[in-house]
Amino acid sequence: MKNCKNVQDYLFGKGAIHELKGVLEQKRISSDSIVVFIIDEFFKNLELVNKLPINKNNDILIFASTKDEPHADYINGLLDQIINNIVGNQPVAIIGMGGGTTMDIAKVISILLTNTGYAEDYQGWDLVKNPGIYKIGIPTIFGTGAEATRTAVLTSKIKKLGINSDYSVFDQIIQDSNLMVTVPKEQFMYTAMDSYIHCVESLRGSTNDAMTIAFAQKSLSLLRDIFLGDMDYDKLMVASYLGGSAVANSNVGICHPISYGLSLVMGYHHGFAVTIAFNQLEEYYPEVKEFKTILSKHKIVLPEKLLKDISANKIESMVVAIRKNEKPLENAFGKDWRNIFTADKVKDILLRI
Ligand code: NAD
Ligand code: ZN
Repeated sequence: MKNCKNVQDYLFGKGAIHELKGVLEQKRISSDSIVVFIIDEFFKNLELVNKLPINKNNDILIFASTKDEPHADYINGLLDQIINNIVGNQPVAIIGMGGGTTMDIAKVISILLTNTGYAEDYQGWDLVKNPGIYKIGIPTIFGTGAEATRTAVLTSKIKKLGINSDYSVFDQIIQDSNLMVTVPKEQFMYTAMDSYIHCVESLRGSTNDAMTIAFAQKSLSLLRDIFLGDMDYDKLMVASYLGGSAVANSNVGICHPISYGLSLVMGYHHGFAVTIAFNQLEEYYPEVKEFKTILSKHKIVLPEKLLKDISANKIESMVVAIRKNEKPLENAFGKDWRNIFTADKVKDILLRI
């Protein structure tokens, strides 16, 4: 039985970002209190950053690169930069403002500031010993549910595996739908579809319970309202959060393992990888039909036969990486998954992508 942790506080609604000042004032206990801001590089030259409550004398402002998804080496480099700047004065808060990439980077740095070692030392389940720095998540694109989960996904030299710990859960989140208006259409849909896929995989798996089923069903129904009816950004924020809560306390299924293989070998970003993988999984998930309707309604055309010229070695590496995800695959197929989801079957799916 899992003891499921939730985000402690949330501020919700258009303009909620303006409440950040008040939240931080409660944390700034002295005139030299430091707050670390990790902000998606997209916002670098935008007026919004000038309006954030950043104390230019003490605070540390880092624009996180989203070119690649979080890598341990990159995070360790940011950590060194922060440690060199704070000279022993532990920050009172850390903020991750951006998508799943930036929020996860902030989660990891929060942990590394209070635990010895490097990011890769904590990849796995419940390896973190000390609570991290007080952390605030401010999503600016919605669907991963990273604002809700105890996971910080990262790749290191040896593996792509999240840090899974109660100490990775944000203490405070700020959900302000005004922040997503600048997201490009394709990226918006890929990340939103991540939420849809989390819910389908969670519902069609075997490790769910009445709580995660309720989260996933509600999230799916909101996503249907939004993508087959009227777009409502506030509803999308709720769907993302609930989808994250559903999957964090149950598991993903067939699509995410395939996407991990695609990301690891081909370097595809998460939202895109899950979207192109799910598109080929109608034999397992009848929802793929509806998913295709949604994509076509929103004029998202996926590339065809993307992997047709890929070397046999790369395909083989992907098959191996995909079949390493034992827990999700068991969640989807049961204990006998190896005999059902054979290497040939995986290869067949990859060659259709
Ligand atoms: P992302 O954070 O990688 O951002 C995608 C792109 O959108 C980037 O180019 C970014 O600069 C841009 N962007 C973000 N906000 C914007 C805005 N308001 N306007 C314009 N552009 C904006 O994308 P994502 O899909 O949110 O996150 C993917 C990452 O999240 C992956 O690393 C994945 O593994 C991880 N993830 C984490 C969890 C979790 O529980 N922690 C769950 C699912 C996925
Ligand atoms: Zn996902």
